[in-house]
Amino acid sequence: MQSLTNRAKQVERKPMTFIEKLYLWNILKGMFITFSHIFKKRPTVNYPEKTRPFSPVFRGLHVLNRDEEGRERCTACGLCALACPAEAITMEAAERKIGEENLYREEKYAARYEINMLRCIFCGLCEEACPKDAVYLSETPAPSNFTRESFIYKKEDLLIPDPKTETEELKKAKGLN
Ligand code: SF4
Ligand code: SF4
Repeated sequence: MQSLTNRAKQVERKPMTFIEKLYLWNILKGMFITFSHIFKKRPTVNYPEKTRPFSPVFRGLHVLNRDEEGRERCTACGLCALACPAEAITMEAAERKIGEENLYREEKYAARYEINMLRCIFCGLCEEACPKDAVYLSETPAPSNFTRESFIYKKEDLLIPDPKTETEELKKAKGLN
């Protein structure tokens, strides 16, 4: 066959020696490596009972933030979805009605807000893009699961507990308990 460059190298296959044909030496070598690991410190941890310490810049699951009065900060502007390189964020905007001022901070809010964690690469660009300090990435790693649907986090899963009515839950979410 004609070669495109002159860098092609002919590889020779050497015939095996008698010792190599027995495979005994290779089996012994393999067994020695296996046994030498028995007395070494185990590099694995029993996750999820035990976790490794994460880096200070670790980015985990997203949290939808509330203001100090417990109102949702997100105004469904869509900037986070636009900034997301993985197209993991979906939302639907709705208009705040009279009497809902205690629920939503702005006149527009996200009636639906979803993040597909199977798509997310935890880059943090959504957090950077948000002008309302409404979305941030917490230090909680995304738990494993068995179904694809369970990786689609809805607004109810992402919203931080209300600081006015769910003080204990909020403390727990912030790891203060
Ligand atoms: S962390 Fe990155 S990939 Fe994940 S939702 Fe935010 S912008 Fe998209
Ligand atoms: S989380 Fe922030 S950037 Fe995303 S829609 Fe809400 S306000 Fe806009």
